[in-house]
Amino acid sequence: MQPRIDTETPAAPGTPGTPAAVTVAGTAAAGPATQPGILLLDDDPFMLSVQSLMLRGMGLHRIVTSRRGEDALQSLQSDPQAVDIIICDLNMPGMDGIEFLQAVNASPYRGSVILLSGEGTRIMHTVQKLLGGGRLQILGALEKPARPAAMQALLERWKPLVAPRGQTPVPVYACEDIHAAIREQQWVLHYQPKVNLRSGALAGVEALVRWQHPLHGLVYPDRFIGLAEDCGAIDALTDWVLRESTRQMTQWQHEGLPMPIAMAVNVSMDNLRQPGFSSRLGALMREARLPPQDMTLEITESRLMAPSPAPLESLVRLRLQRFGLSIDDFGTGHSSLAQLRDVPFTELKVDRGFVQGARGNPIIRPMLEASIGIAKRLGMQSVAEGVETADDWQLLREIGCDLAQGYFIARPMASDRLAAWLDDWKGQSGRLLAPS
Ligand code: C2E
Ligand code: MG
Ligand code: MG
Repeated sequence: MQPRIDTETPAAPGTPGTPAAVTVAGTAAAGPATQPGILLLDDDPFMLSVQSLMLRGMGLHRIVTSRRGEDALQSLQSDPQAVDIIICDLNMPGMDGIEFLQAVNASPYRGSVILLSGEGTRIMHTVQKLLGGGRLQILGALEKPARPAAMQALLERWKPLVAPRGQTPVPVYACEDIHAAIREQQWVLHYQPKVNLRSGALAGVEALVRWQHPLHGLVYPDRFIGLAEDCGAIDALTDWVLRESTRQMTQWQHEGLPMPIAMAVNVSMDNLRQPGFSSRLGALMREARLPPQDMTLEITESRLMAPSPAPLESLVRLRLQRFGLSIDDFGTGHSSLAQLRDVPFTELKVDRGFVQGARGNPIIRPMLEASIGIAKRLGMQSVAEGVETADDWQLLREIGCDLAQGYFIARPMASDRLAAWLDDWKGQSGRLLAPS
């Protein structure tokens, strides 16, 4: 019997899915844990002394300065514990700030970074993205000359990367852990509703796998899906997810939930490379007496970057059987339009990076509108991921997006919570559907 975890709480820095917090780093023995060690890197000696003075004025005294990326790298390598925050200029002769930070990002060093540059916010936004997903925690970016209040605000985001007293650091898993989890079926599915933005009706759920670890509790997929792929275990995991999700669809039917509840399952490119994937899934649905139209396969775009013949063949075969095909995290890969052209997708899921706060953002709002416009013109269903606020919800209604998914509607939940959530949602969704 699987232990049941019913609720999901927001991910906090250092919890599953965030890049930091595996090795214990950051607080040098010499200083109190609340006082970060700072490395200032700027080729301009005047800027270095102005910034040092400003930091000292804030009561920060563990400061080292460097005028060259090469020297700064060396000092980080020789004493990584001395530096918690790197304040880095981007435009430097020789090794520039990007090259320096990429080298740091690729090293075992784990710390935080504040970008400082006179190059404008668009460039800094791009650099922030470039470094995101690596080991460094980006606290933010400031235009030169940085004002003390703005610097202070970013410094306040810094948290020492040490586990709080009595807690162990976040563990790193190996292939044998994944294989053991597969043998012992330590998986659990949580389901996140997708609702129709016009009617508020439940349009389906997305199955999201969690690892119910015997020692560490609920572990989130960002910590093990890539590993399962690398260890050759993703087929066995997906197989479990597909069986469990179809079993759940049947169970909901028997429990009398308003039917059918369409199911979306995430699949990896590796799954699609497996010969016979589409026919096995077809057989599974027939066994469960479920129509393939009620199952959508979500394919993450970055993994689809260069569709080779085998996955494409699986995708076409799945579509011929009438499974839904969704391009997940749309907008985050490099060739979204090429994939839309080449793969017979039925649904476009706009990544949450183009959804959250879009109303007031002159860069992402046109991209959200364009993505939804493309889906419409191609006859695809559009879904917005990561809808977190009433403002996101209203904007999506105004733009004419079809479905919404996100914490504003519901967090992923255990299967037995769905009926109660649906009752609540029916009660409260009326006010969200008033003409805006
Ligand atoms: P995804 O398919 O894009 O799933 C959506 C992710 O966003 C989920 O994270 C979900 O919990 C989270 N999310 C939903 N609403 C919100 C929101 O309003 N705000 C924010 N900040 N996040 C929201 P989760 O469950 O951690 O899954 C992460 C990724 O792991 C998934 O992204 C998917 O790519 C992958 N994944 C999950 N289950 C499976 C699986 O069974 N097989 C495979 N191959 N990949 C899976
Ligand atoms: Mg998905
Ligand atoms: Mg997604």
